[in-house]
Amino acid sequence: FGWPNQGVIRFDGVVLKYREHSAPSLDGVSFESRPCEKIGVVGRTGSGKSSIIAALFRIADISAGEISIDSVNVSRLSLPALRSRLFCIPQDPFLFSGSLRENLDPLGEFREDEIWDALAKVNLETIMRNLGGLEHVVDEGGVNFSVGQKQLICLARAVLHNAKILCIDEATANVDHETDRQVQQTLRMAFKKCTVLTIAHRVQTIMDSDRVLVVNDGTIVEFDTPDNL
Ligand code: ATP
Ligand code: MG
Repeated sequence: FGWPNQGVIRFDGVVLKYREHSAPSLDGVSFESRPCEKIGVVGRTGSGKSSIIAALFRIADISAGEISIDSVNVSRLSLPALRSRLFCIPQDPFLFSGSLRENLDPLGEFREDEIWDALAKVNLETIMRNLGGLEHVVDEGGVNFSVGQKQLICLARAVLHNAKILCIDEATANVDHETDRQVQQTLRMAFKKCTVLTIAHRVQTIMDSDRVLVVNDGTIVEFDTPDNL
């Protein structure tokens, strides 16, 4: 189905508290993306960067404000509907035990050639053919893959499902230079028509962003192009 179409994310006065009596982790966050915008999210540790993604995916419930994607209030969607259309690449992605095919296409919705096409777009085709193809077994947690490869597998899943919105918590640890280059290239090529929200740890990611969302103490303090910051 067609939603989301533009991939416009809008936060309007969003307040998020993990516990009833704790201080808000998001304290009136408002911003709106443009279609297909590449947004870098920066801020000190504990400032609320991951909470923005948690609120968007409804991993945590917001207590005030509204979050919409293409004018649809996400609180009106069922969780499966919401989470089948948003994609997230965590810092160290978790793969479940099962075949590579099951990890990429858990519901068996796609043809073999569509899956290979997605793997090719993230530069994993050769590696996966050498490992024995789509029936190659992924161990629990994906321990037989590197962090960078797991990120690429998650990206392949997002390509396959024609993601319009992608959130990335950039890896901080041990991604080798070549895999990192492939992840960046994939993001530029395969996700051109996708809104991408990246919690940025690399300076280059910030410089490559259309706009940078600066979070401090649960609020947005700036939202501008990297040149203007
Ligand atoms: P980091 O750069 O360290 O990942 P962050 O900017 O992503 O930090 P958040 O994880 O969004 O920060 O945390 C914002 C605030 O919310 C912090 O005070 C944190 O302790 C609190 N917090 C985050 N997740 C939870 C949780 N699951 N339960 C309770 N408090 C939480
Ligand atoms: Mg975080």
